[in-house]
Amino acid sequence: MVKYVYFFGNGKAEGDGSDKNLLGGKGAGLAEMTNLGIPVPPGFTITTEACIAYQKNKTYPEGMWEQTLEALKKLEETTKKKFGSNENPLLVSVRSGARVSMPGMMDTILNLGLNDETVKGLATSSNNERFAYDSYRRFIQMFSNVVLGVEHSKFEKLISEVKKGKGYSLDTDLTAEDWKGLVEKFKALVQNETGKPFPQDVMEQLKLAINAVFDSWDNQRAKTYRKINKIPDDWGTAVNVVAMVFGNMGNDSGTGVAFTRNPSTGEKEFFGEFLINAQGEDVVAGIRTPEPISRLKDEMPGVFAQLEEVYKKLESHYKDMQDIEFTVERGVLYMLQTRSGKRTARAAVKIAYDMYKEGLIDKKTAVLRVAPEQVDQLLHPMIDPKEKYTPIAKGLPASPGAAVGRVVFTADDAESWAAKGEKVILVRDETSPEDIGGMHAAEGILTATGGMTSHAAVVARGMGKCCIVGCGSIHIDEDEKVFTVGNITVKEGDFITINGSTGEVILGKVKLVDPELSGEFAEILSWADEFRKLGVRTNADTPHDSKVAREFGAEGIGLCRTEHMFFEGDRIDAVREMILADTEEERVKALAKVKPYQKEDFKGIFKAMDGFPVTVRLLDPPLHEFIPHTDEDIQKVANASGIPFDVLKKKRDELHEFNPMLGHRGCRLGITYPEIYEMQVYAIMEAACEVAKEGVKVYPEIMIPLVGHYKELEMLREMTVRVADEVMHKYGITLKYLVGTMIELPRAALTADEIAQYAEFFSFGTNDLTQTTLGLSRDDSGKFLPFYVEKGIYKEDPFVSLDLNGVGQLVEMGVTKGRKTRPDLKTGICGEHGGDPASIFFCHRVGLNYVSCSPYRVPVARLAAAHAALKQQ
Ligand code: ADP
Ligand code: MG
Ligand code: MG
Repeated sequence: MVKYVYFFGNGKAEGDGSDKNLLGGKGAGLAEMTNLGIPVPPGFTITTEACIAYQKNKTYPEGMWEQTLEALKKLEETTKKKFGSNENPLLVSVRSGARVSMPGMMDTILNLGLNDETVKGLATSSNNERFAYDSYRRFIQMFSNVVLGVEHSKFEKLISEVKKGKGYSLDTDLTAEDWKGLVEKFKALVQNETGKPFPQDVMEQLKLAINAVFDSWDNQRAKTYRKINKIPDDWGTAVNVVAMVFGNMGNDSGTGVAFTRNPSTGEKEFFGEFLINAQGEDVVAGIRTPEPISRLKDEMPGVFAQLEEVYKKLESHYKDMQDIEFTVERGVLYMLQTRSGKRTARAAVKIAYDMYKEGLIDKKTAVLRVAPEQVDQLLHPMIDPKEKYTPIAKGLPASPGAAVGRVVFTADDAESWAAKGEKVILVRDETSPEDIGGMHAAEGILTATGGMTSHAAVVARGMGKCCIVGCGSIHIDEDEKVFTVGNITVKEGDFITINGSTGEVILGKVKLVDPELSGEFAEILSWADEFRKLGVRTNADTPHDSKVAREFGAEGIGLCRTEHMFFEGDRIDAVREMILADTEEERVKALAKVKPYQKEDFKGIFKAMDGFPVTVRLLDPPLHEFIPHTDEDIQKVANASGIPFDVLKKKRDELHEFNPMLGHRGCRLGITYPEIYEMQVYAIMEAACEVAKEGVKVYPEIMIPLVGHYKELEMLREMTVRVADEVMHKYGITLKYLVGTMIELPRAALTADEIAQYAEFFSFGTNDLTQTTLGLSRDDSGKFLPFYVEKGIYKEDPFVSLDLNGVGQLVEMGVTKGRKTRPDLKTGICGEHGGDPASIFFCHRVGLNYVSCSPYRVPVARLAAAHAALKQQ
């Protein structure tokens, strides 16, 4: 018989913290805390396996229900209460809990087991009628919403009416009689909305609630969340049935959430918030603004001391920052949840660093604690410290970084504006799980209510989005699409800047700057360097980018695109002259004008990369990219350059191609116009010799693009070696240089053994290789590729994350075949994929020597390469 139900209570649990896959994160945490002797209300967990089995045809697997009833009986014995009793009723919460936390995505029902009779029992046993009816109405509200699909707002409206009628301002002002009256109204509403009375049978309630949690695994928002966070659909959720403890029993009761360290900055401080006389969902939902946890010390010193002891125990047990939920019932503390806390990248770095220094974790663990995907956040823009500005409002700094964008007021608008290429800031009173699509699309999020643990704050931190919450001075009018602060009115579409590190809201656009590596982050990266096997280089075309990349730790340049240099300043004129040349003689003359520019650029780059290799790619794009296309632009160039309009136009038509990506480009240019590549090799080698004479250590690597046949490379290699020898002879020095090629056509990968005869290195140009392998034009696929990804045909955009099954095979084959011919062949990757953690894992696995990525991805790549090495061990 499969065991589907695991009990915990009385200091003993059937499962433990290692059973996350089976019990879900929440269930495993409850079991582990129980075993640690931490006060947890008793309960039981129905496994994720049961959920998966249930999904097939919406029926429980054999034995599950019987085991549930048995566990329920045990729960009654443990609590000395009876489920459905009208004297001393047992109430439970029914809580979802997947392997990884998905905040607010799935459903939880509290106070289950109440009906018209048991509520009376609860009133008597607690000696608190107000509490009993408050709990009952909460139950009707939650159950009807989650299980029966009645809108939450309809209940809230009824409450507001009563409050208005009686002149109350807070929910806590309502009396027992008020709640009793509302319970009747709630039941009538349910009858009206569903055509059926509110279920009074507690067993039916339990069954329906379990089903609802199982079903919530497949609701739309959970699916969206899983997609964004790459969580497999077949993990399922566990169901936790937990004896209720009550934070709403009066002023000696309350509920709160806390982090053992600051989840935003990583600072070592107990951090959180709580509400007196409230149930858990009040804190998370952001309905009432909670108080900081430090106040609990004044209000309930005994409880606070106990809580401190628990959190310290949990942190040293889990050796990680914990996110905890607790409830105080009449002065007694209960823990309801513990899990590794979500944190910003900044906090992840600080916590990993501190915990290593505290001796809690070792270096490897510290490196593994910082997710490569996440550190991108640290490399996000912040407000230029030199900027002077006056904020119009200030809220809580929920997730750091800064963002500039146009104001929108709904998640849908955020998505549709972003789809049109607008940068937007989503401004809402509070966010709810339905908003995540819009939050994802926005540059940043600003909410008027809610605390540091509200939905908006938690989700934004997870997404690495800048976010401000609880900005109470802004007043949003969603219908009019404006918000006001004092006498300032901000309309939809207006620009604002938000600073998630300080909580400041600024009218208009403020200049943002790129960040630098903090000391702690730099140190963690240096630990990563101790573990990684892959080299990390950068793609850079200018001395400036090279310098930035060096500061981020790049160990050379994997791709320097020479054509970018062609566009700068007035050199484009010389380039155009070269293109327009009709004879070789004219072309050589024009090229002579381009050469000094190229040489200067190379000298700058070689100097910035002192001691590290620089891979220079010879001209790659088709020539027509350098001349204007529209008649209007042609006219402009004609006026400026003195070249007749007709001549330009004729050249444009001559150079026109139907499939430019497969046209006259790459080494095909070098084959047909050898003087172009020759000029480039002269420029590279002369620059190298000149800086070498100045004492710079220089390792040029000359790379021939788009080779598909070894003969192309054979010819161009011969030319390169001839020119290089000539230049070195002229300068009277010998430099070590390499000649290699890009592998970016399937044929190159297939014949890598032949090509390797003439190449000392291979650099996999995975952008073109993806394009040519998938037969998918990068420039045209935007219209349908997102649809493919949505439908799951490709799990991810193959231009962002390497298509391992397809393109990956070619890369692997290229490496293997190439090394067969030339065992010391150097191999690397220089497509966009070089900065993508999943692709980097692959590069490590197939034994590449290095990855090369854009300067700002270099830290990501260093860390990802270390993770790949550590995880393979
Ligand atoms: P989520 O995963 O959305 O945090 P939870 O299952 O943790 O959902 O429950 C939501 C809230 O209900 C929590 O804040 C918790 O404090 C409260 N809660 C859950 N179970 C109980 C219980 N048995 N007694 C009291 N409060 C509970
Ligand atoms: Mg929770
Ligand atoms: Mg290419």
